[in-house]
Amino acid sequence: MTIRKGNFASDNNAGVCPEAWQSMAEANSGHESAYGTDRYTTEVCDLFRDMFETNCEVFFTFNGTAANSLALAAMCRPYHSVLCHSMAHVETDECGAPEFYSGGSKLLLVEGDNGKVEPESVEALVHKRTDIHFPKPRVLSLTQATEVGTVYSVEELQRLGAITHGLNLRVHMDGARFANAIATLGCAPKEITWKAGVDVLCFGGTKNGLAVGEAVIFFNKKLSEEFEYRCKQAGQLCSKMRYLSAPWLGILRDGTWIKNGLKANAAAQRMKEGLEQLGLPILFPVQANSVFVKLEERVISGMHYRGWKFYDFIGEGGCRLMCSWDTSFDDVDTFLKDLSELIASSEDRRSEAPVMKH
Ligand SMILES: *Cc1c(COP(=O)(O)O)cnc(C)c1O
Repeated sequence: MTIRKGNFASDNNAGVCPEAWQSMAEANSGHESAYGTDRYTTEVCDLFRDMFETNCEVFFTFNGTAANSLALAAMCRPYHSVLCHSMAHVETDECGAPEFYSGGSKLLLVEGDNGKVEPESVEALVHKRTDIHFPKPRVLSLTQATEVGTVYSVEELQRLGAITHGLNLRVHMDGARFANAIATLGCAPKEITWKAGVDVLCFGGTKNGLAVGEAVIFFNKKLSEEFEYRCKQAGQLCSKMRYLSAPWLGILRDGTWIKNGLKANAAAQRMKEGLEQLGLPILFPVQANSVFVKLEERVISGMHYRGWKFYDFIGEGGCRLMCSWDTSFDDVDTFLKDLSELIASSEDRRSEAPVMKH
């Protein structure tokens, strides 16, 4: 019997959830008007407004890099700067797209434990220089859930939001894993967005179970003026828009997006508990769908040799075990079983194991 090895490399490695697939199929009938004027797109935008309990503007992009960088571009002039954590995706994984699309806005890095921006560091950086020679701080970009699987609490976001208003900063939220954060906090989506001062949210669909697509949600509607032109110029205006928008109906209706988030988070909790039982050091609090653990090189190679997929170079050198909407407890338990066998053995596959690359 061959055991299917689970995959903990990325929530981007998972497939499409059945609800999204079904909505896509339903939208595939006859002709519909293009470029976002179809009925599916209208319906999804209304669902977002209901969900956030406010009259926001909604746009769709193909991926998160475009969502983030176009949103930031809409919030900045070229001489402005964006404050973000040093581990933020906009800094480490977008190939300079925020700087490119904003026409030169510089990213300024802020520190903070557990992947979270510290309010004091934001204040210190904004006050450090106020002269004309330094790019004027304009935006605070926050990632929720963070790149290391932690979640800002409602209070933390309220505090950051309050500070930014005093400093005349706008707030961008990278919500590639927004669903996982809401699943953890159990609050209404408005509590960690516009009520906490967020002007623009990039709401991740891909990692939550769509094939493709992120929503850019402007709570500050003034910032959304002419955003459709930015999307078009960047090659992000989908002509057959219904196929980008309709799958959202599947995950937004009946709370499937939260169910998907809860499932991924629960798998991560189970993983964390199992790793702790094996006495392994967990590197960050597990508050969303990823677990960062320190493993010996011999053990990493052994697991890769056995077919398990995970990265060992993300977030300060730990191994990142990422759970998805479709990760089962069985996947987690089988992983833990292999891991404990390996640790107890002296098996060494360092020269044979495949190398994991992005
Ligand atoms: C995955 C991810 C994105 C989006 O990445 P794309 O590959 O451009 O879709 C954005 N922010 C964070 C924190 C992510 O993990």
